[in-house]
Amino acid sequence: MPDCIFCKIISGEIPSDEVYSDDELFAFRDVNPQAPVHVLIVPRKHIELIVDFTEQDAGLMGRMILAANKIAESEGLVENGFRYVLNCNEHGGQAVFHVHLHVLGGRQMTWPPG
Ligand code: AMP
Repeated sequence: MPDCIFCKIISGEIPSDEVYSDDELFAFRDVNPQAPVHVLIVPRKHIELIVDFTEQDAGLMGRMILAANKIAESEGLVENGFRYVLNCNEHGGQAVFHVHLHVLGGRQMTWPPG
């Protein structure tokens, strides 16, 4: 998608602090971290909203979680815990319309979310 900031990060047009990469996923540190560890995992395929996932994308979501688990492990988050977040559309607080999974950790999270 030409105007998508995350597509530009995936292609390397916009620089990022890469954490993980494979043939269908890319992960990088959030530029405005909300926790000591804040990583975003995105599918290389441009999908705007999590509700746009189809049956064919079910495996992709599973692999996003497996990649997130690897990152949580390598970032040292597993022992104390961490949080995964998927924001959807305006009320969900989504600002970038390319599906992304937030991996947040390194501090105590609070509930309810803002
Ligand atoms: P969301 O509100 O769920 O759409 O989250 C979008 C996230 O993308 C925010 O946490 C931003 O800080 C982050 N973000 C926006 N632009 C960049 C960028 N160029 N590099 C890294 N993270 C970014």
